[in-house]
Amino acid sequence: MSIASNLESYKRLIQGTKCRLVAVSKTKPAPIIMEAYNTGFRRFGENRVQELKEKHLELPGDIEWHMIGHLQTNKVKVIAPFVSMIHGVDSVKLATEINKQAIKNERVIPCLLQVHIAEEKSKYGFEPNYLLETITAGNFDGFNQLKISGLMGMATFTDNTDLIRREFRILKQLFDQINSLATPSNIDFEELSMGMSSDYEIAIEEGSTLIRIGSNIFGTRN
Ligand SMILES: *Cc1c(COP(=O)(O)O)cnc(C)c1O
Repeated sequence: MSIASNLESYKRLIQGTKCRLVAVSKTKPAPIIMEAYNTGFRRFGENRVQELKEKHLELPGDIEWHMIGHLQTNKVKVIAPFVSMIHGVDSVKLATEINKQAIKNERVIPCLLQVHIAEEKSKYGFEPNYLLETITAGNFDGFNQLKISGLMGMATFTDNTDLIRREFRILKQLFDQINSLATPSNIDFEELSMGMSSDYEIAIEEGSTLIRIGSNIFGTRN
């Protein structure tokens, strides 16, 4: 299957839904990304700061770049001038730095809060209850140039589809719960980033608005 036809089948799959596609191009070289670009597609995801920066410089300026990986505070400044959305905000410290760099660059940076929903232990992502407490306590208030647009999560890597579904539901419930709170205007939930090549079907059924698909579009990575 070609990249163009893979993209086309995802396009057909999400047509008429609220869900959009982030094509995860990490490790793939510029000519491969251009194959997708030349079909009219513009939304790409990367997980490493240096690689993202290089591709931004090398590829057309109208690409919407999504940072989907873990982001270290000291590297925010590298991507702050151009990044379209940061999916992995997992601390107030990181949010503080993104807001600071957004001010420096005179722009608003849309972000998603990463939530730890998988059974696998992970250093990354807020625990659901802790995130609720953090938001209720007002710890994200006052970040006027950081737009908190929703949540991102990764389900356990397993073929137990019931478990995957339960984890996505936890994320969706948390999304709805936070959405019902009286939050400041910079917290405006619209996006639920969940679903990858192995579990996007369940994610869409459970309310995903951004699926992040890599290998099903570009082929397996080394
Ligand atoms: C690599 C990656 C993806 C895409 O994974 P595939 O299984 O290749 O679709 C999605 N989300 C994140 C955070 C990733 O790092």
